Amino acid sequence: MPRFAQVILDRSTGKELDYEIPAGWENRIAAGSRVRVPLRNRQVIGTVVSVSETTSAKGVRPIASVMDERPQMTPVLMKLAKWMADYYACDEQDALRCILPRAVRETGHAPLKRKFAVLARQVNAAELDALRKRAPRQALLIEALQRAGAPVAVAKLAAEFGSSDAALKTLARRGLVEITSEAVRRAPRGSEEFVASKPPQLSAEQEKALEGIRPALREPDKHKPIVLKGITGSGKTEVYLRAIGEVIDAGKTALVLVPEISLTPQTVERFASRFAPQGIEVAVLHSHLSEGERHDEWHRVRDGKARIVIGARGAVFAPLENLGLIVIDEEHDTSYKQDEGPRYHARDLAVVRGKMEPCAVLLGSATPSLESFENCRKGKYDLLELTHRHDGCVLPVFRVVDMRLRSKDGERNDQFISPKLATAIESRLAKGEQTILFLNRRGFFTVLACKACGKKVECPHCSVSLALHKKEDTARCHICGYAQKPPRKCPKCHDPQIAFSGVGTEKVEAAVKKMFPQARVARMDSDTMTGKNAYHETLGAFRSRKIDILVGTQMIAKGLHFPGVTLVGIISADSALHLPDFRAGERTFQLLVQVAGRAGRGDAEGEVIVQTFSPAHPSLQFAKSHDFDGFAAHELEMRGNFGHPPYSHLVLITARADTEQKAEFTARTLAQKLTATVPASVMVSPSSPAPLARVRGMYRYQVVARGKQVRPLTKAIRDALRGIKLPKDTHVSVDVDPMAVL
Ligand code: ADP
Ligand code: ZN
Repeated sequence: MPRFAQVILDRSTGKELDYEIPAGWENRIAAGSRVRVPLRNRQVIGTVVSVSETTSAKGVRPIASVMDERPQMTPVLMKLAKWMADYYACDEQDALRCILPRAVRETGHAPLKRKFAVLARQVNAAELDALRKRAPRQALLIEALQRAGAPVAVAKLAAEFGSSDAALKTLARRGLVEITSEAVRRAPRGSEEFVASKPPQLSAEQEKALEGIRPALREPDKHKPIVLKGITGSGKTEVYLRAIGEVIDAGKTALVLVPEISLTPQTVERFASRFAPQGIEVAVLHSHLSEGERHDEWHRVRDGKARIVIGARGAVFAPLENLGLIVIDEEHDTSYKQDEGPRYHARDLAVVRGKMEPCAVLLGSATPSLESFENCRKGKYDLLELTHRHDGCVLPVFRVVDMRLRSKDGERNDQFISPKLATAIESRLAKGEQTILFLNRRGFFTVLACKACGKKVECPHCSVSLALHKKEDTARCHICGYAQKPPRKCPKCHDPQIAFSGVGTEKVEAAVKKMFPQARVARMDSDTMTGKNAYHETLGAFRSRKIDILVGTQMIAKGLHFPGVTLVGIISADSALHLPDFRAGERTFQLLVQVAGRAGRGDAEGEVIVQTFSPAHPSLQFAKSHDFDGFAAHELEMRGNFGHPPYSHLVLITARADTEQKAEFTARTLAQKLTATVPASVMVSPSSPAPLARVRGMYRYQVVARGKQVRPLTKAIRDALRGIKLPKDTHVSVDVDPMAVL
């Protein structure tokens, strides 16, 4: 019999404290239980991480109360928390905090209750007559309930008959009416009624892929994670749907991760319309839910009501039990990486969770990450492929426009829409087809600099240039949101020749409107998409062809299907290419293939026009021929030569402080300590200013450590951090397997 519980408090330093399990509670408390325990003279909340029969602690006090009848955390999630703490060099309570959403952890989001009234017995005509004379309002209510013949929400009665509380109370006291209270689900968008969608006949290729997945569904402990590599539109989603169907038929549950779910409502619709009409509930978990919605969705999952979960990265912690399959769609997507707190990667956690459950793990992408692809080459993962678009539709034609040549034609270099692109847009307009113009930078102009002295005008808090937003007439920082009136002269030399340059989406929109006054143009970026429904409305208008040209940032690059789009123009492929990051080439390749996937999904052939100053770049050339394998072979060879991931793991340590000196000192000290303690195979870079040297007023210095294995690295970092006392207002963050070194 367990008599003691080891508890990690929500607000603590990660140490486990022992508490006594009161007699009779042995069956109510297990690893994963949330409990209230005494701490000095207060009561605090914590999570039980294990139970034991003995304790070596002295003066152990009893647990005060248990918050749920059943542990909120499943045993696998408890194990996953330990794994995270170890791998990502974080405290276990930080991992636990990540796993259990605040809406569930904290009280106050308890189920929303709604009151209903229903007739408690038959009321005959004579009684009703008598009531009409004596208490007309009560009679009206009785009549309404008679008409309804079912429970009616009290709020609805109040709306119809005015304040009816007192009347209902009297009726209830007299035994004529019964008042009940029921929990109502706060349902997120996308969980409306669905028309059943009939599954299509699978293509031979899809059938083969599904056949390849089946063994893992049956005996997950004997199989590896599977990468499903399929070009956009090849029907990967249909394969997921079938695999999930089989998992559900076998009585198990399924988890589907998609990047930035709020941007892909269509995906949720596709899953819900397949399963909801069969009575299989689908829960949605993502960061745009209200706390109430999140609470209710989470409990629907925990209670076993919803057996399919679709969500963004945090949904990897969905409290599903009896899990049969985890699908990670667009597994290469960077939004799977959490950018603060334990900086976990949801795809990697999914693979780890899959092994713990055990369940099948399916990673889908048109452009798998080089990490996953290399795992296939090494035989750690299995690879399945889809090579055709389901409807025989061909992939779009890529044309690369060399922007360097343009000035030779005597054209002005600042014309960022080449004649080739302009002609292509014009022909689409003439045919009534749609165009997407993509640019990764918002704003009107993106760089503000003095032409006399060359000074770049930066944000006072961050080391980036301010961008002009013309409509609001402000110069804005895209990191911290700082805004000011655009300066009229150089702050350094006071010359009035201060000017903005560079192109942002706002400027593209303006230019397109001017070039094609007859076209209906809309812009989609985080500046225009501020209203709650702006995104849905704009996409809806685009889908119903009320918009001819859609200008946007990566918001429009993802998983959207628009049959009317036959042209995608990439205003500049260069912005990502020249980032100081070894993954720049991979990012650009993925982005090009992804954006290109938006073109030619209907019957018409698609065209992609890419404008660039680096036309020979391999990422562009391989994207042009839709050649993932060629790209991967080329890029992996380069990575191998430099010892970059996937042939090593990186850990990025960033020291931030309110003065440059403190940040530099901290990073340097850490680098020295690490160098002295790590195994010889680990490389530790000297500390240096981060490429983004200042953010929100904090100076940033980095140290990068690189080794074959993560654990020795994180252990050394933990030890080093323990051994130094950080100067005041100095913070150190550790990012294991960082997505970018910025
Ligand atoms: P992917 O996820 O690989 O981009 P999808 O699964 O979204 O591909 O498929 C692209 C389109 O093809 C969708 O409209 C889908 O409904 C349709 N589709 C997929 N498989 C089939 C099939 N076997 N028969 C008919 N249509 C299909
Ligand atoms: Zn700023």
